[in-house]
Amino acid sequence: MIGGGLAGLSAGVALAEAGWRVRLFEQRPFLGGRATSYVLPDGEHVDNCQHVTLGCCTNLEDFYRRVGSAGKIKFFDRLVFQDPQGRIGEMQAGMLPAPFHMTGSFAGFAPLTLADKRGIALAMLDILRGKGRTADLDEPGGISMLEWLKRRRQTQGAIERFWRVVLVSALDEELDRTDARFGVDVFWKGFLSNRKGYRMGVPSVPLAELYDGCKTEIEKRGGEVNLRMPVRAIHLADGAVTAVEFDGGRQETAEAYVFALPHPAMAELANEEMKRLEPRLAELGKIGVAPITGVHFWFDREVMKEPFVTLLDTTTQWIFNKTALYGASNGAGKERGQYLQLVISASYDLLQKPRQEIIDLCLKEVQQALPAARGARLVKATVIKEAAATFSPQPGVDRWRPTQDTLIQGMFLAGDWTATGWPATMEGAVRSGYLAAEAVLRIAGTPRKFLQADLPADGFVGWFC
Ligand SMILES: Cc1cc2nc3c(=O)[nH]c(=O)nc-3n(C[C@H](O)[C@H](O)[C@H](O)COP(=O)(O)OP(=O)(O)OC[C@H]3O[C@@H](n4cnc5c(N)ncnc54)[C@H](O)[C@@H]3O)c2cc1C
Repeated sequence: MIGGGLAGLSAGVALAEAGWRVRLFEQRPFLGGRATSYVLPDGEHVDNCQHVTLGCCTNLEDFYRRVGSAGKIKFFDRLVFQDPQGRIGEMQAGMLPAPFHMTGSFAGFAPLTLADKRGIALAMLDILRGKGRTADLDEPGGISMLEWLKRRRQTQGAIERFWRVVLVSALDEELDRTDARFGVDVFWKGFLSNRKGYRMGVPSVPLAELYDGCKTEIEKRGGEVNLRMPVRAIHLADGAVTAVEFDGGRQETAEAYVFALPHPAMAELANEEMKRLEPRLAELGKIGVAPITGVHFWFDREVMKEPFVTLLDTTTQWIFNKTALYGASNGAGKERGQYLQLVISASYDLLQKPRQEIIDLCLKEVQQALPAARGARLVKATVIKEAAATFSPQPGVDRWRPTQDTLIQGMFLAGDWTATGWPATMEGAVRSGYLAAEAVLRIAGTPRKFLQADLPADGFVGWFC
């Protein structure tokens, strides 16, 4: 297993469970890849960026259960939105069955006008009628989400204050650069087909702590987890992988090699011979990347009560109250201060901005949204820009995403960017890991299933699907 992100870990844990001796090699000194955390010199645990999951992420949930971390995810039923005028909107399931469970909170959603809501309701009806598919999603090359919305005559308010807010966060891309298939899927799986799909799961511990159980699962079955071990080259002979090479020329061999790297790293490792044998490796450069910026603020006092809030019409998209979410696990209870983490997805505009300018901009928005922050002192602040946070879900991107088995004997691929049908998410990464493990076992002649089913359609939707 090359790579200790969620894809490599989930494939490794699955294969260990199937009786394989798994040897995992990760280049960094810790596990978790992009979904991890580290400790600052002052002892503070900081997530690479806030990560959230949704109720519809059934494979991630299964993985957390396998490695004993399910109890470290707190689920929330109520999502709060706030605009600069201080108007609050909520999304919370009421008593009605799916797909009407959100009707109450949607009807009272103050930041949207009646015309916005009417358009949104009609578009939702279209998704429902197609059971998560609409005919135009299958147009060659795909269509963008913005085009899909325009065809359904969405108002500017609905686009900016509803569709864009949900989808840019979920898919890390602007609507005109997002394949509508992913956008429609978010609403089908997250909001329409099941009452629980939208529930937001937030880790109550720093991200790296979620993976403690992975090492144990692999090691107790005779495997090993090696950190600070970057693979530098892949050796082939007669169309098969014969070894991977590390620093100092050290080589390791295996019956099967799962490369669970980000796609730019995989593209770099793939030599001409590999690209000739497996042409899909030559196409990886066609998959683009999109940025996410995380801004971390530590205030000298409490400035926020909610566990998280989504801001409308601002650069800042989400504010997470890390002090409340962590509880005592980050030593947060020791002082009276408060730690907030802000997330800005598809943050192209911030990439070139100096750190202090981003801090000033976000601080102003936090002070506008949270009156208590106006009198508070900002003790420290950090900005983490991830220029290649996720692959960009551009229209038609699926045609460049390879399956987990390859035409090179012994070579398997995993990673959120491989063909899973999902966008770049932790769920997509775990799906890819499970699919890679299934491919290894299938080719070894001992097939086994790890991939979990989607949440079943329930309520009235269940009658028709
Ligand atoms: C800022 C940010 C915010 C995000 N927010 C969310 C969110 O809220 N919800 C969500 O679901 N998803 C979110 N994501 C996406 C999510 O983190 C990823 O989809 C997922 O973690 C990808 O897992 P992976 O295993 O495919 O890749 P990675 O996590 O990138 O793992 C690949 C691993 O391979 C290692 N590696 C690379 N090269 C080598 C080499 N040569 N040898 C050995 N090891 C190597 C890397 O160090 C890394 O550990 C976010 C991502 C970012 C960056």
